[in-house]
Amino acid sequence: MKKEKGLLLVLSGPAGVGKGTVCGALRQEETSVQYSVSATTRAPRAGETDGVNYFFKTREQFEKMIEQNELLEWAEYVGNYYGTPIDYVKETINQGNDIILEIEVQGALKVRERFPEGVFIFLMPPSLAELRNRIVGRGTETEDIINKRMTVAREEIDMMKKYDYVVENDQVELAVERIKSIVTAEHCKRERLIDKYKELVEVN
Ligand code: 5GP
Repeated sequence: MKKEKGLLLVLSGPAGVGKGTVCGALRQEETSVQYSVSATTRAPRAGETDGVNYFFKTREQFEKMIEQNELLEWAEYVGNYYGTPIDYVKETINQGNDIILEIEVQGALKVRERFPEGVFIFLMPPSLAELRNRIVGRGTETEDIINKRMTVAREEIDMMKKYDYVVENDQVELAVERIKSIVTAEHCKRERLIDKYKELVEVN
């Protein structure tokens, strides 16, 4: 029987909603889901490692990646470039493994154009007040950046309507459970399995 392609999962949500935490927990539990490491021009935060959290690049290096079509999508977000290296994504799904991209909304829309069969999940904060608390609580951003991120966050929440699924991040474990259920359901979709079971399905 033919092996079906892996799922291309896209997880977006406003800054501070906890995409990184949810993705990290998912990676630990659901080891079959690969994680796409993005390239960025932003400076590493404390504890971040090159090649694990991001591939940290200069603007020149990043622009070269764009020119050479090395990115599936890229976007400018709060003054920095962010983009998804394409090769790893393609290899992973072609091998039949699932991959998750944790990216902002403009980039997600570009992925949708190239991979309409992708699964687009929007992570929602329980409230805006809670979102601000989380951004402040992270303690890594200045007041100016926090305000900019809150403005962007409100615009981002409005983009929820472009996604297939909405998952509230009230508690990390619950959000992870919901995403795992989505992955399971998507694997059972008839459209994805039709090729696999072709020989078993009566044709008339
Ligand atoms: P942060 O600076 O907090 O790590 O990320 C800022 C935003 O950029 C987040 O919304 C994150 O999901 C998004 N992001 C991270 N990597 C990529 C990427 O490869 N492409 C796009 N379009 N957005 C990304």
